[in-house]
Amino acid sequence: MSEVNCIFCKIMRGELPSHRVCESERTVSFLDLFPAALGHTLIVTRDHYENIYEIPPEVLAEIATESHRVAGAQREALRPEGLGVYQLNGAPAGQTVFHYHMHLIPRMPGQGLELHGRKEASSEELSGIAAKIAAKLPST
Ligand code: 5GP
Ligand code: ZN
Repeated sequence: MSEVNCIFCKIMRGELPSHRVCESERTVSFLDLFPAALGHTLIVTRDHYENIYEIPPEVLAEIATESHRVAGAQREALRPEGLGVYQLNGAPAGQTVFHYHMHLIPRMPGQGLELHGRKEASSEELSGIAAKIAAKLPST
């Protein structure tokens, strides 16, 4: 997948919209357009790395730091009973966008364990949730 046609590179370049929760030097966190659960957030590298084999360790460390920050804010904002942290590499593992990202999926009992939602969320819904999570971020 070239960076020209990559959906997440297009989001990073501002060619496609996203509902951002926060940003760091080398990452941007935004809501999944097809949420598997309320508050489903992706922690995404600004630069294009296809998978765990390509991402430099220092960028992976920043993904971990941002995941930790966003997880705390999701907990404060949405009070989920569980949180799934997932990262998929290659189509056989279920990866569908070949630009490195971490999923943070708040989980409630009885709601299933799917990683991919089927329905596109509305812009209004996503902007409300993004603001709610962002409001609970610890200051850096
Ligand atoms: P993967 O299967 O590669 O781990 O996850 C890719 C995720 O990107 C999926 O959960 C999918 O719903 C999400 N996604 C696909 N296209 C877009 C988009 O244009 N915007 C956003 N925010 N998420 C997207
Ligand atoms: Zn990309």
